[in-house]
Amino acid sequence: MRVFRTVLGDVPAESSGRILTHEHLLYGYPGAELDHRTVLDYDNAVGRVADQVTSGMTPNGYGTLIDMTPPEVGRHPQFMADVARRTGVNVVAITGFFPERMGVPYYWRRQTREELTEFFVRDLTEGMVFAWQQTPYRAGAIKIATGQESVTPKASPVGAHGRHVHEVEDRVIRAAAHAAMQVGCGINTHIDPMDFEVTNPGREQLEILAEEGMDLSRVIIGHAFVPPQVEMMREILKMGANVQLDHIGIPWRVESAEELDEAMADALVELIADGYLDRIVLSFDRWFYNPRSTETADDPKLENEKVDLNYMFTSWVPRLRGKGVTDEQLDAIMIHNPRRILSIDAEK
Ligand SMILES: [Zn+2]
Repeated sequence: MRVFRTVLGDVPAESSGRILTHEHLLYGYPGAELDHRTVLDYDNAVGRVADQVTSGMTPNGYGTLIDMTPPEVGRHPQFMADVARRTGVNVVAITGFFPERMGVPYYWRRQTREELTEFFVRDLTEGMVFAWQQTPYRAGAIKIATGQESVTPKASPVGAHGRHVHEVEDRVIRAAAHAAMQVGCGINTHIDPMDFEVTNPGREQLEILAEEGMDLSRVIIGHAFVPPQVEMMREILKMGANVQLDHIGIPWRVESAEELDEAMADALVELIADGYLDRIVLSFDRWFYNPRSTETADDPKLENEKVDLNYMFTSWVPRLRGKGVTDEQLDAIMIHNPRRILSIDAEK
């Protein structure tokens, strides 16, 4: 039976409802958990996130959210579980790491490919560790990531094997492939749009995964539409992988969210016309709670926290309908594709 491995246990994939494939319930860059300014008022924060989920996901038919927060970026298994219990929404956690220049703590940089694989597999099968404690909450997918050379984003230099991938990232990606094959789960990735200047970062990630034997139909290249490079996406799709459209309503690395939305919608229509409807997924990449935003829910400072979840149906879907996208096509992108790619065969 196909299941989603949620933090509260396996649930039948059929019961997923609409699926958000890349979100963050609680998010803070590595080190944020040491800052006096980010001390978590736990119950208040869970309540605030649960309210957003209840008001923005449930009425819009969303039943499942993949929380793509890596372990060193504030991944908090108990927090996810408490939001899931409060809201009834399926929350799927991930194992894996952020890009080498932004994450992958030194401890883990020193580990072998085999040790990294074992870490990922144990997160997926036994439960994640948080602040030195074993939790019963299992991850259900893997995240890999490349890019962002510095605090001021720059394109990645040439690294391992002549690719624009750093040495540790290369090892993490190979480890992720082995863990995914062992457990039978999917992989969703983070690429950095700066790298479009020097390479197709999605293709490079896929080449490494394929070298280790990964089935690329179980891989989603994230941030592929920001801003859309249609030729690069075709290259990714021809390799058999999937692309994620995200950052709707969020101006990441662009001047205007409105212009990005319009360009992404046009690119989506083009890829559907090419016959790639079944290989596209859709999400926000929203930060439901970032302790460095603001104290009140009404006035967030950070762009990834500002966008309202209802934006999907008040702005984005009408934009697509205006370009001729049908309800059936929307169901493929919001339900059937992510269900196929990210669910796990429970018999395995
Ligand atoms: Zn993200």
